[in-house]
Amino acid sequence: MTSTMQQLRYIAPGKIEWQETKRPTVEASSDVIVRPIASSTCDLDQLIIRGRTPFKGPFAIGHECVAEVIETGDTVSDLVRGDTVVVPWHIACGTCINCKAGVPAGCLTTPRNAMYGMPVGGDYGGLFDDYVHVPFGDQMLVKVPEGVNPHHVASFGDNVSVAWEAVEQHIRRKPGARVLVVGGSASLSVFIADVACALGADVHYFDFSARRLEIAKSFGATVYKGMPTPEHGEFDIGVDAGVNPESLRQMLTMLKPEGHCEYVGMSFEDVPFPVFEMYMRGVTFHTGRVNTRVHLPFILDLKKRGCIHPEHAYTATHSYEEVVDAITASAKPLFIRNRIT
Ligand SMILES: [Zn+2]
Ligand SMILES: [Zn+2]
Repeated sequence: MTSTMQQLRYIAPGKIEWQETKRPTVEASSDVIVRPIASSTCDLDQLIIRGRTPFKGPFAIGHECVAEVIETGDTVSDLVRGDTVVVPWHIACGTCINCKAGVPAGCLTTPRNAMYGMPVGGDYGGLFDDYVHVPFGDQMLVKVPEGVNPHHVASFGDNVSVAWEAVEQHIRRKPGARVLVVGGSASLSVFIADVACALGADVHYFDFSARRLEIAKSFGATVYKGMPTPEHGEFDIGVDAGVNPESLRQMLTMLKPEGHCEYVGMSFEDVPFPVFEMYMRGVTFHTGRVNTRVHLPFILDLKKRGCIHPEHAYTATHSYEEVVDAITASAKPLFIRNRIT
């Protein structure tokens, strides 16, 4: 076994490259080493590589993958070499107060914001790397069920779980809810339309992208080219996955009394809030990093039952050798490689 491996790093705007680094090994008894076999870009990665975020290189990039288990520590009991697993973007212990409370993105055992593929909370590598160190393996990793194509769930470790968290709890409280979805980034909005339609909501989808409009329509959403205006009526739930702060302001004034707004958009500036309108309607607002690990069993079950088709959001399929050239050539590329187990 060689002691080095290739790691994909974001260097500077427009520049990513593979670099040689130390191959991770089992250190703690709860560690698992995995090898990504299907990776995609989070919508945020696409903006990072284009230099449109506050994140500066160099750092290992990538936090959305399915992997094969290569090696397990002595106390890992739920996983064996060869298992196929979804790797959550966040690093979480599974046993602290926050993890037990269902908010592993705020794990108290690991450094704040600990995650793969970003220059925050420590360096855990990225999910395009040849090999990845997963602490708390039994707690972190979730097996892909029999009968589910691993390539189709490559984005469950981040963007598809974002979609679930954004709408599921609200639709559960209000079955058949009228849901407003505003698109703008590569894939999040279509994943939201997919999940919300599968949960029986009345989904109204707005975007400028003909590709995303077509996919959202195929999931059962009513689609509109452009941005929502008051003539489109009022909504129980609004989810903004856009890139334009103005769409959030508009959405906040289009919710029914006691309506709920989720913001999973890609703005890095302050946004003015219509607080008086929100007060008069009793609007609640939430934004934040998704608690992926909690949602994985539910979305994998939804996929196993054939209720969602997030694979339709992928814009191209490539090998990992093609990453450097292909990563920004289309909006939501999928990279795959053969297993070694
Ligand atoms: Zn992400
Ligand atoms: Zn924890």
